[in-house]
Amino acid sequence: MEYWDAYMPDNDARFSFQFVKKAVSMGAIAVNYMAVDSLNWKDGKWEIDLRSDESDMPIRVSSKAVINASGPHVELLNKKNGLSSPKHILFSKGVHLIVRRITNAHGVFAFFADDGRLFFLLPMGDKSCIGTTDTRVSELPVSVNDEDRKFILTNINRLLRLEEPLTVKDIISERVGVRALVVDEDQFDDKSDWMSLSRKHFIDIKEEESYISVFAGKFTDCINVGEGLIAAMGKLGFDMGKKGKWYGEDNVEDKVSFLDAAKSLGMTLSGEEWALRLWRLYGKDANVILGRIKEDPEKKKNIIPQIDFMLAEAEYACENEMVVELEDLLRRRQMISLTHAKDKLVEMSGFKRLSQVLFGEDWEAKYERWKKDSVPVDISKGRDGNRE
Ligand SMILES: Cc1cc2nc3c(=O)[nH]c(=O)nc-3n(C[C@H](O)[C@H](O)[C@H](O)COP(=O)(O)OP(=O)(O)OC[C@H]3O[C@@H](n4cnc5c(N)ncnc54)[C@H](O)[C@@H]3O)c2cc1C
Repeated sequence: MEYWDAYMPDNDARFSFQFVKKAVSMGAIAVNYMAVDSLNWKDGKWEIDLRSDESDMPIRVSSKAVINASGPHVELLNKKNGLSSPKHILFSKGVHLIVRRITNAHGVFAFFADDGRLFFLLPMGDKSCIGTTDTRVSELPVSVNDEDRKFILTNINRLLRLEEPLTVKDIISERVGVRALVVDEDQFDDKSDWMSLSRKHFIDIKEEESYISVFAGKFTDCINVGEGLIAAMGKLGFDMGKKGKWYGEDNVEDKVSFLDAAKSLGMTLSGEEWALRLWRLYGKDANVILGRIKEDPEKKKNIIPQIDFMLAEAEYACENEMVVELEDLLRRRQMISLTHAKDKLVEMSGFKRLSQVLFGEDWEAKYERWKKDSVPVDISKGRDGNRE
């Protein structure tokens, strides 16, 4: 049976980041590497202390309302700040492994693993992504262990007749995270019915303190979560403006004129694929990259020959993609470190150039930090160096 729903060709982190960029383009201020440390409701306003990973300087902001959308951390953040939560969060750890492309099929394959849970084979760039696991855990953060790897590899080898069964040596990279599952008080200690727990989200509104918490939710439902938050802010008395389109692709006319402009710069058949990729990642902003190439055709140059990465795109990323560390770009804006083993990436000399373009005089420290985190791992002892 074939069924179409939704597919993120550039990975979930990129998909989320598109919302951030859209918000910024509409006037929002977004910061990364900054955590909410404490929240205090004082004289009808929130006093919020922020902690930066980059400096020791504490930052205090004040706000008329707070939306706690910290995913699996939602209840922990509420608790830390003495705020009650009407629902509770359970953590379900999920692991995916990225391996060589093991099927030419374009779509996603869905199977049942030997524990009866859904199990997927997904295309990820020119590689395959397999998984997932679904294990109840009580603490964050989580990491991939040998049992996870064994479960995934055993299942894929059982489900597909591969010429060469996959082993741990075939793992290119790994992903691990927790799904936040929302439950009521009486379900918290009930371990019997794990799979039947709802994957739906719940929005809690504390009207007196103008405080909203988002409990759980799925990517596939994220537009509904967003619409729910707009309604919740309205309920708190905020004017949310006229309903407009706050998500999705830029309009078709813009796309056509971008593709024409790309062609006029000498992009032919493979160039068109290249242009489509830029459009998908950056929408109308991809014109900025074309503009740079127009000014200086040298900027079309691929600075990392083993992977496609143009100088003009690196410059654009430096200015517009909130890249603080190399891994932000490689894993959270693009899929490069998901589809390439890190020990192979560190051998590519182009990353030094990329680091220079991104970080200027800080390039060497940032490059060395990334490289140090990427020491080739002894596979027999597990691949603990390459996880999300
Ligand atoms: C293995 C796995 C597979 C999944 N598969 C699917 C799928 O196929 N389809 C689907 O629809 N969904 C899937 N999901 C669920 C999907 O990942 C979540 O629905 C989605 O990430 C929820 O988005 P969110 O923004 O609410 O939370 P998150 O993505 O968790 O984002 C919360 C953010 O808040 C930040 N944060 C936390 N604490 C603080 C703080 N104190 N201060 C500042 N920031 C903070 C975190 O760093 C994080 O960036 C999967 C999840 C996992 C783990």
